[in-house]
Amino acid sequence: MSGFVAEARIALPDPEALIGPVCEHLKEHGAEITREDGAYVVAMDMATSRFWRENDALVVRAEARDLQSLYLVKMGIASHLMEFAGDETVEISWTGDGRELAAPPNFQIMDVAAVRNVTPHMRRITLRGENLARFDTLEALHLRVIIQHPDSRVPQWPSVGSNGLVRWPEGSHRPHLRKYTVRSVDAAAGTMDIDFVIHPDAGPGSAWAERVTAGEQAGIVGPGGGGLRPADWYLFAGDETALPAIGRMLEALPETARGVALIEVADKAEEQAIATGSGVEIRWLHRNGAAPGSTTLLADAVREVAFPVDGASVFAWAGCEFDAFKAIRGYLRRERGLKKDENLIVSYWRKGRTEDELSHADELEH
Ligand SMILES: Cc1cc2nc3c(=O)[nH]c(=O)nc-3n(C[C@H](O)[C@H](O)[C@H](O)COP(=O)(O)OP(=O)(O)OC[C@H]3O[C@@H](n4cnc5c(N)ncnc54)[C@H](O)[C@@H]3O)c2cc1C
Repeated sequence: MSGFVAEARIALPDPEALIGPVCEHLKEHGAEITREDGAYVVAMDMATSRFWRENDALVVRAEARDLQSLYLVKMGIASHLMEFAGDETVEISWTGDGRELAAPPNFQIMDVAAVRNVTPHMRRITLRGENLARFDTLEALHLRVIIQHPDSRVPQWPSVGSNGLVRWPEGSHRPHLRKYTVRSVDAAAGTMDIDFVIHPDAGPGSAWAERVTAGEQAGIVGPGGGGLRPADWYLFAGDETALPAIGRMLEALPETARGVALIEVADKAEEQAIATGSGVEIRWLHRNGAAPGSTTLLADAVREVAFPVDGASVFAWAGCEFDAFKAIRGYLRRERGLKKDENLIVSYWRKGRTEDELSHADELEH
């Protein structure tokens, strides 16, 4: 890999004690780890990083093909080193390319162009902005919306610190970041739709979607996330938070695609028309008065799906509450034996916890 390079020298008494566990963890993110002349080499799609010891320091060298990838890898390295260091101080200061970035390259300010309800508890917000072509891909479906504190008079936007991490203005009105899915994008028109679930126990995301009106601004960061792999047969499973993702994927699948999509919603009124030309059968599951995240409806329905026995290639995709995520992932991986490249199962939210309270460990827990 060549292109853009950055390096950091981090004073640490025992660099191996930190780098070993970090590398093990990065495998969960799809990294390939090899050893070369005593260094750990971490290869990912977008970048290659090398970690080695020099006296009492850990030296990290990151190489990426473009500045955005370099920014993301610097940020990923810094945040993981800090997370795994626990109480130990890790002072990182990057040299090399990308130091001149004033704001994260994947950050953008958008105008709210329209707000309407798709169903009683699903609010569609249309955002308008430039250069949206990067969102026009099924490889990375989601983004983060920057939700300003309701009492903040001036919007607060992110900058980049010398450690590569996003920096926010100091103060008590720090915005919240929430993950949402790009339901549709029209890069030529410069618009994208995001569907927000209006849920009980409303957090900043849900509350913002309820109060925002056309003409306001919204910051977004993205895109991100894993994509759908080509297969003959698909299983989709999700609650209403994953309905935007499932809807978008179904609409993009070819006519030849077969499979089943299980979508859990509150009741009949929350069903949506999905314009898919594929042969994937949509089955709606209704909670009928039960609280979101309180039933085994989705996980039970997944168990009842008959998988193809004709040798068709399979891909399973699921996004839902944490308990259902654990049940579905356990079933598909352990009982059905789906391999890593045959499934993408993600926890979209966790009952009783705000997104700020969730850690990487929750997202990756098996
Ligand atoms: C990759 C990804 C894509 C996502 N895409 C979408 C999307 O397109 N649309 C969408 O609406 N959501 C989506 N989500 C889920 C969304 O990020 C979470 O629901 C998030 O918690 C909402 O933030 P909040 O500020 O409203 O609530 P938080 O402040 O995070 O939580 C406040 C309280 O509400 C509860 N809560 C959170 N979500 C729900 C819910 N859906 N139903 C009931 N209670 C809930 C929490 O458990 C907590 O008790 C996505 C999540 C991921 C990981």
